[in-house]
Amino acid sequence: MSYQSMRQTRPATPARGGMVEPSDEAESADSVSRREDGRVPKRTQLGHMPVGTERAVRSREAALYARKAAVQQLGTERGGRDGEPGRRRGPPRAGEALGEVYLIGGGPGDPDLLTLRALRLLRRADVVLYDRLVAPAIVKMARIDAERVYVGKRRDQHPVPQKEISAMLVRLARQGKRVARLKGGDPFVFGRGGEEVDSLTAEGIPFQVVPGITAANGCAAYAGIPLTHREYAQSCVFVTGHRKANGELTVDFDSLVRPGQTVVFYMGLTGLAQLVTGLIGHGMRADMPAALIQQGTTDRQRVLVAPLSELPQQAVEQVMLPPTLIIVGEVVRLRERLAWFRSAAEADKTPG
Ligand code: SAH
Repeated sequence: MSYQSMRQTRPATPARGGMVEPSDEAESADSVSRREDGRVPKRTQLGHMPVGTERAVRSREAALYARKAAVQQLGTERGGRDGEPGRRRGPPRAGEALGEVYLIGGGPGDPDLLTLRALRLLRRADVVLYDRLVAPAIVKMARIDAERVYVGKRRDQHPVPQKEISAMLVRLARQGKRVARLKGGDPFVFGRGGEEVDSLTAEGIPFQVVPGITAANGCAAYAGIPLTHREYAQSCVFVTGHRKANGELTVDFDSLVRPGQTVVFYMGLTGLAQLVTGLIGHGMRADMPAALIQQGTTDRQRVLVAPLSELPQQAVEQVMLPPTLIIVGEVVRLRERLAWFRSAAEADKTPG
């Protein structure tokens, strides 16, 4: 496989929102610059063409599109960027390199929290495998012709087994595909990204990992709760509150009950009462401020703040729904002064 780069040296153009739109290497080397709505702007990148009439420009553009379509159909070489390898479209021939896998963190919910690198690789992918917690708007950002495969919980509420997902990644990459594996938050924070990467290395499949904003960071920021603070918290731990099938928790409570430490629980809603009992039983103050953040960073964000001992009861009364993140610590008090984001759901409930 040739790693020749056919990248176009066109400058990133400011998108309408004022953000710099990363160039879209899903387009072939022959691509013309497109607007978000898919139409070609009047002033295209046809620098080598003499200034002509609008009609001439249009017919030139039409020719470019036709050529681009042909290029894509024939599976001609497309280029990579930034020193990354380019790749052929279609299945690899004998001796040719495999496809590759991008393990991408999709962030906590607000699609604007996606990184530019995530977006760039997502637009390059031929196939996208995505989880339940990835914002639909992010899945839509993939190339229009990319195959989208949902691998979250199925209708029977059972998730697609991890082994099956790993096998799917390997199989698709072996077919020469560029595969985006999109996960909520960060792939390496309670995301089982390590297991997926493990199976890729075992099979010699090239991959990259793109960090995402993890739920703790996203929820804390949008709830106005700094995870550390010079006065209140000098450390912060992320803990899974997930219960085993037999209902048991595997939480080392002793390590969590420390002065000046913020504790963040992922997957803690179903085991909330047990978590609270465990913390208080190991010496945490019953009136320690605690927050439960539902669907943080999204339009549906709701934040419940209560003394630790009252959190489970209030969560039931307020019908808090997953996904939720729990933050326990003195820093929760700061929300009173620092809250800045009010979701549509919260605005609806506030009188006036
Ligand atoms: N890899 C993800 C975590 C996956 S585990 C990350 O880095 O964020 C799933 C848990 O993440 C959920 O049970 C919940 O505790 C938390 N979570 C993810 N998105 C969330 C959101 N928008 N609001 C609140 N909690 C969220």
